[in-house]
Amino acid sequence: MRAIAVTPASKQLGLIDITEPKLSAPTDVMLRMLEAGVCGTDKEICAFEYGTPPNGSGELVIGHESLGEVIEVGADVTRVKVGDLVVPMVRRPCPHNDCPACRSGRQDFCFTGDFTERGIKGRHGFMAQLVVDDEQYMNPVPKNLREVAVLVEPLTIAEKALIQVWDVQQRLPWSCPVTAGKAQAHCHRAIVLGAGPVGLLGAMALVKNGFDTYVYAREPVPNPKADVLAKIGAKYLSAETHSLAALAESVGNVDLVYEATGASRLAFDMIQYLGTNGIFVFTGVPGRKGPVEVDTDAMMRNLVLKNQVVFGTVNAGRDAFEASIRDLGAFVDSWPEAVGGLITGRFPMEAHRDLLLGKNGGIKNVIRLN
Ligand code: BGC
Repeated sequence: MRAIAVTPASKQLGLIDITEPKLSAPTDVMLRMLEAGVCGTDKEICAFEYGTPPNGSGELVIGHESLGEVIEVGADVTRVKVGDLVVPMVRRPCPHNDCPACRSGRQDFCFTGDFTERGIKGRHGFMAQLVVDDEQYMNPVPKNLREVAVLVEPLTIAEKALIQVWDVQQRLPWSCPVTAGKAQAHCHRAIVLGAGPVGLLGAMALVKNGFDTYVYAREPVPNPKADVLAKIGAKYLSAETHSLAALAESVGNVDLVYEATGASRLAFDMIQYLGTNGIFVFTGVPGRKGPVEVDTDAMMRNLVLKNQVVFGTVNAGRDAFEASIRDLGAFVDSWPEAVGGLITGRFPMEAHRDLLLGKNGGIKNVIRLN
């Protein structure tokens, strides 16, 4: 079968022919892969910044945002059946008995760092025509989400973040008054830094939760990202026309910042505008560009005097995948055009070099695998 793979030792990226996987356990499932999304992580792997092939292999099949169709199941499989659409999870547990996270199915919080990730670290990914994996990593998706389900995995980042935001903010009276027709966070204001797929999907999740949502990004208006945001009722402010101070001024008390750029300078500049009882979520993984100066006294004073919380989040557990599938359905019901507008184009496997090495514009590019 065909797969898109990197060979880190010789710095190559290409379409390769590999042996078809077979079911090897009664709980295994075989997927015919339909689509994979291209994200920044894939591009960084293709630039050989990281990416680890499985033990004993020189190649790593890439791809972790995906959608597949179940075509074969082992004798003991109960979670899915042939014909189901599924989005597989990315991370697999470490082998250590003393890792309570991995031993309880929460490898997204692995303590040891010895987890593997399909398409990223130590395990082949999903940019292949067939994939076999245990049913416990499969998340069934309703058929009506066929055209957008490749967005489930990138949306899990916001879903895991929001699950934690609600957990953490339970430590204070943060709930909004229950109001007919309004979602639970209707009294809170959120800023999203960045308008890539993670930022836009995050903005959708925040708006659905009721947050008054502002997105701050580089590109001047008009642009396709601002158009998507206008359709969902979020406000777009460009860094070309608004300073962070002006952004904070138009928002009022900044209750939540959802960072989705990986730009540490911008993020730490933003922290100083976080409001009273505010919470700041980091999701980006910056490259190492060298130290920058920040006003640590001001930051620490605010953290203490305003009861603030700053946290980082990576990967996602089953709860976030399930929330993502549910919310994507809700997004499609409310904003079909905006959700469709996130997918810029679908391309054949042969187009992988342009998509993974080029500066392809647009929002989310998708590779068709079958
Ligand atoms: C993926 C996560 C993964 C992270 C770090 C992200 O692009 O969505 O599943 O944990 O990269 O490897």
